[in-house]
Amino acid sequence: MIAANPMHRIAICALLAAAAFGQPAPNPAPAPRPIVLRAARLLDVETGRTLAPAEVLVEGESIAALGTSVAHPAGAEVIDLGDRTLLPGLIDAHVHLFLHPGAEDLQTVEESVPQRTITATLAARADLLAGFTAERDMGTEGAGSADTAVRNAIDQGLIPGPRLRISGNAVDILGGHEDANHFNPAQHVLSNATRANNAAELVAVIREELKEGADFIKVYETGPDSVVDGRLATNYQYTEAELAAAVAETARVGRHVAVHATGEPGTLWAARAGVASIDHALQLSAETMRIMREKQIFAVPTFTIYEYFADHDPPAEAAAERALNRLHAAEFRKQLAAGVAIAVGSDVGPFPHGTQAAEFAWLVKYGMTPLGAIQAGTLNGAKLLGWQGRIGALKPGYFADVIAVPGDPLADITALQKVQFVMKGGVVYKR
Ligand SMILES: [Zn+2]
Repeated sequence: MIAANPMHRIAICALLAAAAFGQPAPNPAPAPRPIVLRAARLLDVETGRTLAPAEVLVEGESIAALGTSVAHPAGAEVIDLGDRTLLPGLIDAHVHLFLHPGAEDLQTVEESVPQRTITATLAARADLLAGFTAERDMGTEGAGSADTAVRNAIDQGLIPGPRLRISGNAVDILGGHEDANHFNPAQHVLSNATRANNAAELVAVIREELKEGADFIKVYETGPDSVVDGRLATNYQYTEAELAAAVAETARVGRHVAVHATGEPGTLWAARAGVASIDHALQLSAETMRIMREKQIFAVPTFTIYEYFADHDPPAEAAAERALNRLHAAEFRKQLAAGVAIAVGSDVGPFPHGTQAAEFAWLVKYGMTPLGAIQAGTLNGAKLLGWQGRIGALKPGYFADVIAVPGDPLADITALQKVQFVMKGGVVYKR
């Protein structure tokens, strides 16, 4: 068969020529004609008000207008989503695209980096189809800067996935929380993180990570964790001065540091040093919470990973996870009362990608309002990822990152686990 339309043949020839010369395929062009999304409801995440019914006019990659009705330009495609609620795409501020269930320890031994990169591309697709249109990847856990390729391929429209902020390989001390300890030393088992043992080494590895494509730097500051006499016991890894050196080096080029930090004194030192987020944040002192509120440092609770391990680990470890969960749940209410800003992060990877909207339900169970949890997973996520004013809400001029869920998520937060429509940048990925 030959193409009936000669222009069509020219276009195909151009594509083949591009492929032959190794050029990337063109971006998935946003829909050539305007799209009007119509649904029974739209949640304004800033005010908590529900618009009913609702229409959103999408032109190119952005939202042009929204209201109970919008102008329908000539030739606009109308997508009627019926009895659903429109929301901005969800934002997960703590993911690991390079991890999958069963591989959060020995993956550097058992899996090649190319294999892990394929895993990461599938994970990115699963997360996007679950409604997460933007994510912060908190470390490849031993796959170096392979996340740079995944982020760039998504940005170029070669593979489907969320908008990504990536950290490359996380940074850790020798023998630290994420090092490959307890193995035969003669085997030289690779660490899951990049080693730095002092301020000068931190600066050196940070420069290397940024050179290889990282958007920000992830540092392991505490661990391992246990509950002793009702309080969290955790080792710190870097001193306040060392963390300050890391923060200064990233700030020099307009970037930031995010820490894995569960308790004191590591969390206090991280807050004083001026990190952007304290991830896990199991137990924070009053002074740490005061500084976090003052500097607008986000806590990223990651309840889902702890709940998952409590349900899937062998009995002894599961009991330890449950003790941490009980402590964290009680401490989280204190953090909310103290006005600490929260961003949604699930730590997905060790549990299946695409299932992490469960984090919203845990946040509500442990004390947030449904609207507060949704704001943490949209507005606050956008701030933490440095995309405030572009994503995280449905407003004219924002990227058309739009999802639809059945029912009313303010009445039943688990609606976020049933995303039925996903648009990112004006392109429909699920309908
Ligand atoms: Zn993590």
